[in-house]
Amino acid sequence: MHEWALADAIVEAACSLLNERRAKRIALLNVVIGSLQSADREVLKFALTELFKSRGIKVEELRLNEEEALLRCRLCLKIWKLEDLDIPDDVKEAVHFIPEVIHAYVRCLNCGSQDLEIISGRGVYIASMEL
Ligand SMILES: [Zn+2]
Repeated sequence: MHEWALADAIVEAACSLLNERRAKRIALLNVVIGSLQSADREVLKFALTELFKSRGIKVEELRLNEEEALLRCRLCLKIWKLEDLDIPDDVKEAVHFIPEVIHAYVRCLNCGSQDLEIISGRGVYIASMEL
């Protein structure tokens, strides 16, 4: 049901913009999902469609784009893709639910520091919206 909560937040944000413009129709909605969200795209799409419908808003085109997870080492400032780092599968699974666990398991391949921050791939947001 994680997807419904995400969809709800997106619909809320879109609706407040629509209210400002007094619009009931979205020509194109571009939504970005961070890969760390591990949201099911089909479920998310369905949830968005249903929630917009329930508010009487017509979305002509809905696009979901995945954003890759990137981490930056705070010490040497190198940027790593999550796939580059050697993380066991069960930890990857845990990272999807609690991104903070990353700090306990991940080391920078360059300097060995564990002080890495997640710089993308966490959130779900509206990249653009055309009315
Ligand atoms: Zn480093």
